Amino acid sequence: MIPISDPWMPRIDRGLCTGCGDCIARCPTGALGRKEDKATLVQPALCTYCAACEDVCPVGAIELPYLIVKQGGYET
Ligand code: SF4
Ligand code: SF4
Repeated sequence: MIPISDPWMPRIDRGLCTGCGDCIARCPTGALGRKEDKATLVQPALCTYCAACEDVCPVGAIELPYLIVKQGGYET
């Protein structure tokens, strides 16, 4: 679990990710990159939690855990 006081980060399901690169191209800060042909949060400190990556992913491999955090105070 991630405490709510920790920075909120997009979560990438590497099993769903096709490596298309759309999220990497869309990320305005360069927080995302490619690792072993999958999207990866390579620069977590640069993420502004804008959700552009979540919006653009064609297979729903990225989610930002804000709903879970609001409900329980923890990401599970
Ligand atoms: S939430 Fe925004 S800044 Fe963070 S990785 Fe996704 S597109 Fe980049
Ligand atoms: S947009 Fe989705 S499928 Fe494409 S590289 Fe990013 S996480 Fe993977």
